[in-house]
Amino acid sequence: MTTNLLLLSDLLQDEYEIKIAKGGTKALEILDAPNKIDLVLLDIEMPDINGYEVCKKLKNNSKTKNLPIVFVTAKNSEEDEEFALNLGAIDYITKPFNKAIVKLRLKNHINLKLKTDLLEQLSMYDGLTNIRNRRFFDEAFEKIFLETKREKSTLAVLMIDIDFFKLYNDNYGHGKGDEALKKVAFALQSTIKRPSDLVARYGGEEFIIVLKDINKEGLKTVANNLLQAVRDLKITHNFSKVEKFITVSIGISYYSSNFDIMRLELLVKADEALYKVKNSGRNNFLITEV
Ligand code: GH3
Ligand code: MG
Ligand code: MG
Repeated sequence: MTTNLLLLSDLLQDEYEIKIAKGGTKALEILDAPNKIDLVLLDIEMPDINGYEVCKKLKNNSKTKNLPIVFVTAKNSEEDEEFALNLGAIDYITKPFNKAIVKLRLKNHINLKLKTDLLEQLSMYDGLTNIRNRRFFDEAFEKIFLETKREKSTLAVLMIDIDFFKLYNDNYGHGKGDEALKKVAFALQSTIKRPSDLVARYGGEEFIIVLKDINKEGLKTVANNLLQAVRDLKITHNFSKVEKFITVSIGISYYSSNFDIMRLELLVKADEALYKVKNSGRNNFLITEV
C-alpha cells in the first residue's frame, strides 16, 4: 500500500472505522460483501487491478454505484485528475496534501453520503407506517412482474383495504386512526416472511402485497393468515358493521404465466376482487385467476 493511503488511514482512524485492502481485487471483494461502507479511498497504481478499473467496476454495480470514491494518488497531472473524475469519482487528492484540509474534505463527503442515504430511505418508505411506499412498490412490482414472466412462474397481487375505516376515523379521531393504520401495517408485514415478497402502503387505508412463486393453496393460507393477523390486533371498532374490532378485506389476482397479460391488469383484477368482497360482507378474501 502506498504511503499516501497509510498516512490517510492514520489520520482518519480516530473518527472512522477503516478497512484496508491490499489491491483492487481485495477491495472489490470487501465492497461487494454486505458491509456498511460510506467512502472509498482508492489508489490508482495497484499491482493487480488498477484504481481506474476498480472505480469503473464499482460504478457499474448497482450495489456499489452510489459509493463515493476518492482517488488518492501521486499522479498529479490535470489529465489524470480529469480522467478519474470522469469515471465518477467524487474527489481526487494528490500529494503533497494538507492533512487538516483533506480530513475536512473527506468528512464533507461522508456527511453528504449519509444525508443522501437518509433521503433515499425516506423516499422508499411510508412516513406513517414505516413499510414500503407506493413509489417503491411501483418500481419493485415492475421488476417482479418481468421476472415472473421470464421464469414462467406465478404471482399473486393482494389488495387489502380496512373495513369501515371512515367510521373509525369519524368516531375515534384521526390520531387513533393513524395509530390503527400503523398496527395494521405491522401485522401485515409481519405475516409475510419471504424476502422476495413485497408489502407496501398503497395509499390511504389500503395496502398491497405481491407474492412470488406461490401455489393456490399457499395463497389461500397466506390470505387467511393476513385476515387473522389483523383480527388478532383486536383494535376496538364499535362502529364497524362487521365485527367489534378492525378487520380488512382482500381482493386477489393470481397469475400463473399462462396468458400474455399486462402488469396493470393484475392491479385492476385485484381491485375488482376487492370490490366484490366489500359487497359480499367484507372481512374476507376473493381470488380471481388471470
Ligand atoms: P370500506 O369498508 O368500504 O372500505 O369503507 P371505508 O370507510 O374504509 O372506506 P372509505 O374509502 O369510504 O374511507 C376510507 C377512509 O380511510 C377515509 C379516511 O377517513 C381514512 N384514511 C385514509 N387515509 C388515512 C390516513 O392516513 N390516516 C387516517 N387516520 N385515516 C385515513
Ligand atoms: Mg379504501
Ligand atoms: Mg376501507
